[in-house]
Amino acid sequence: MAEKSHVTIRNGVIASLIAAALISILEPLRNYARSLLSWMWSALVWLYDALLASYALPGWVWLIILFFALIGLLEVYHAVRPESGAEYSEYTEDKMHGAIWRWRWVGNAVSNLWCYCPNCDATLVYINQSILDYRIAPKADFLCENCNSIITTIISGDKDYALGVIEREIERRVRTGEYK
Ligand SMILES: [Zn+2]
Repeated sequence: MAEKSHVTIRNGVIASLIAAALISILEPLRNYARSLLSWMWSALVWLYDALLASYALPGWVWLIILFFALIGLLEVYHAVRPESGAEYSEYTEDKMHGAIWRWRWVGNAVSNLWCYCPNCDATLVYINQSILDYRIAPKADFLCENCNSIITTIISGDKDYALGVIEREIERRVRTGEYK
């Protein structure tokens, strides 16, 4: 009888120890599961709010706009990315209308186009004399302040027109392969 109760007590103690061990393992797990569940719940609530909340536009419209904005950004990237394979990407300087012209390629478009003095390589200065005197036909003069002389004159328009003339000439030389 005494032996039996001893065993019962021993089993009880072991069972309590196992239970305590299990609880000590399960308790953090349960806390973890609880915080995970509450995080998932807030994520769901946020998603629901984002999709159906009344902004100026509904959330799903914003998602569509975001989608097209991303496509737009990709398009811009492809347009602006220099064509590494393009033969003419090294062609960034040439002599035209008595001046040296330099530019950069942005995609397949000429950018940062400007002219330099063929004698001293100074940056030329644009002068628009027809703005001072209406009797002078429109023309763009490019002056070298170093050499104190007008290096080139492009007739029929202002600076933007002159840059357009040179740009079109660059594109022509690329198209015909003359630049090589
Ligand atoms: Zn000069």
